[in-house]
Amino acid sequence: MPDPTAESQTAAAGKINASSPAGAPRIGVYVCECGGNIGETVRCEQVANALGKLANVTIARHYQFMCSDPGQKLITDDITEKGVNRVVVGACSLFLHEQTFRKTVERAGLNPYLYYHIGLREQDSWVHHECPADATAKAIRMMSAGIAKARLMQPLAPVHLDADQRVLVIGGGVAGLRAALSIARRGLPVTLIEKSHFLGGHVAQWEHLFPTDEDAAALLEGLIEEVIAESKITIYTGAEVVSTKGYVGNFDIRIRVQPRGVAKDFAAVDQAIAACPVQVPDEFNFGLTQRKAIYQPYVGCYPASPVIDREHCTRCNECLRVGQNGGIRLDEPPVEIDLKVGAVVVATGFRPYEPFAGEMGYGEFPEVITLPQLERLLATNDRLEWNARPVRRLAMIHCVGSRQIEGMHAPQPDGKVNDYCSRVCCTATLSAANRIHTRFPNVTIYDVYQDIRTYGRGHEDYYVRACKNGVTFLRHLPEEIPEVIRSEKGAEYPLLVKVKDRLTWGEEIELPVDLVVLSVGIMPSPISDLVDMLKIAPGNDRFLLEVHPKLRPVETAVAGVVLAGTAQGPMTVQESCAAAEAAATKVAVLLSRGKVELEPYVAQVDPERCQGVGECVCVCPQEGAIHLETRIENGKMLRRAVVTAANCNGCGVCVSVCPSRAIDVQGWRLDGFEAMVEAITAETPALEGVA
Ligand SMILES: Cc1cc2nc3c(=O)[nH]c(=O)nc-3n(C[C@H](O)[C@H](O)[C@H](O)COP(=O)(O)OP(=O)(O)OC[C@H]3O[C@@H](n4cnc5c(N)ncnc54)[C@H](O)[C@@H]3O)c2cc1C
Repeated sequence: MPDPTAESQTAAAGKINASSPAGAPRIGVYVCECGGNIGETVRCEQVANALGKLANVTIARHYQFMCSDPGQKLITDDITEKGVNRVVVGACSLFLHEQTFRKTVERAGLNPYLYYHIGLREQDSWVHHECPADATAKAIRMMSAGIAKARLMQPLAPVHLDADQRVLVIGGGVAGLRAALSIARRGLPVTLIEKSHFLGGHVAQWEHLFPTDEDAAALLEGLIEEVIAESKITIYTGAEVVSTKGYVGNFDIRIRVQPRGVAKDFAAVDQAIAACPVQVPDEFNFGLTQRKAIYQPYVGCYPASPVIDREHCTRCNECLRVGQNGGIRLDEPPVEIDLKVGAVVVATGFRPYEPFAGEMGYGEFPEVITLPQLERLLATNDRLEWNARPVRRLAMIHCVGSRQIEGMHAPQPDGKVNDYCSRVCCTATLSAANRIHTRFPNVTIYDVYQDIRTYGRGHEDYYVRACKNGVTFLRHLPEEIPEVIRSEKGAEYPLLVKVKDRLTWGEEIELPVDLVVLSVGIMPSPISDLVDMLKIAPGNDRFLLEVHPKLRPVETAVAGVVLAGTAQGPMTVQESCAAAEAAATKVAVLLSRGKVELEPYVAQVDPERCQGVGECVCVCPQEGAIHLETRIENGKMLRRAVVTAANCNGCGVCVSVCPSRAIDVQGWRLDGFEAMVEAITAETPALEGVA
């Protein structure tokens, strides 16, 4: 254990009052060994010794774990006893410990922005673990740059804003419902908007849910009942966002609510539906059945009143003739409502992958359906029949629309294939197979897969059960995609599935079947307009991107906009609800005080230098972050750039175009960058003797 008091340069004598950062910088430098993560590669003692020789460095130490209590105490003691007024820590990642060390220096009375962090682990020891001498030299250069910046650091204050405590939740699936409930129970008012006319999302379409085999309808009903009973939640169905403005704590959001066209108390529902002559594919049953233009997707849906599908209604007025004057209103216009909210939860969910025409026979042979369609078939029928014939043999093919390989699979319109695993389909497929076996024990089931990924707690039981239930598994290589072809005329089974089975060492097997079920993957809901309005970013897989998958898993890069559920990636119901709870917690912490605090790293204009040219306004990517103001001073009309700190994300694009260098980003000023570059490239005495 190194001596915690080890220091390479003794502090200037005497106790100095740390609360007065004015005067020459007195920099405390701390090199963390991070257990052995840094210390086994970088010679931390040598780094501290070298840095201790640099100008303005009052003390330079190395220690095993700077983030530990004794490690932090070294820093606070140096601030209070040795007058350290700037702190540079070289340690693991900034994401992990920036807040830790900011709080450390603040506890000792120093402005928290007078601390600077160098990532010695990710940027040095981990990448140069085979060359300790080079890693040590690099650590010295990196830390020297930090010290150069520290010399110029000034105290900063975070931006404080009043925050509206209301929250908008977009999407009324399990994730949105759960998030709304959880936020409302923390005392914040919630507006929940759902694009379709009914709550529940996809869970409403499933029969039983793995891993508990719970009745999906019952689970959803219970959740919806809790949501409607919560007085702090206002629900709009048939509603979408049409515009957004503002920033964390102060979003102005306009929503458009489509009318239902049917009064709540309309009693002649069945007669009106019967009278409607329109027939369109019923999306609730994934096109397996037809519905009318006036419809209710399923018994027990919420809201329980039917709705008129304006896209397909032909205005034949048949429904109006069934009585109850005024119960049906075909000409009601949509309503626009302005909402003021402090935060937004995006819970827009997913859509199942739609196979291309001809992909494994889909759209070509009517006996090829998708797993969501099979779910509806099982939910709505007592017998397993297809085309009015009993299904005797069925093949389920995994990974359709997931784990696709570029060049082998047809891309989506954006040119990309779905190379990700959709995570829920393996267990959902096995769950369906087991339910079929229980209800129709004479049906032969083939399961054609690349890998079975039953990754969650209790999911593997579905695989074990399927094996015990006599499901026959066949495994193919990713690049050897199974083929679905029409059987010869007069054959007993209409389709043949051809698989090169790797469980039998590559034997070419033909499976004659009545029905093929494609276990399609999950894709994000089509929300590009919402993504543009909220300025949030999708990832490469098109699902919405979080700031950091481990450390900030539900926050987006836009402060005040958080994610819940499958809008972010494939998830089970359990995972969607866990994400929704995390999102609710984030929002509650953010808004519960009615104020929000933002980082001070925002653009700052020097009015003396500003010429009012306006280049900064033209290039600024953030709406409302910078504008020109005209004012009269000493009888002269002046135009000056003015920054709205709440809208600025500190990107610095404005800095790069200002012809008079009148604009800078607080905490990241150009002189700081210049000093850092100089320090990194300088022939520094600190490097002497390092080899
Ligand atoms: C075939 C299949 C079977 C499955 N079986 C299971 C299972 O047994 N167990 C399990 O744990 N998981 C299962 N899942 C996964 C489960 O369906 C999801 O975890 C769950 O639906 C995710 O809920 P969500 O709220 O994130 O998304 P969704 O259920 O998709 O809900 C999102 C909601 O947002 C709405 N929306 C979309 N865009 C907008 C917009 N712009 N504005 C307003 N609203 C919008 C949508 O209309 C929808 O109502 C299965 C998935 C599939 C494909």
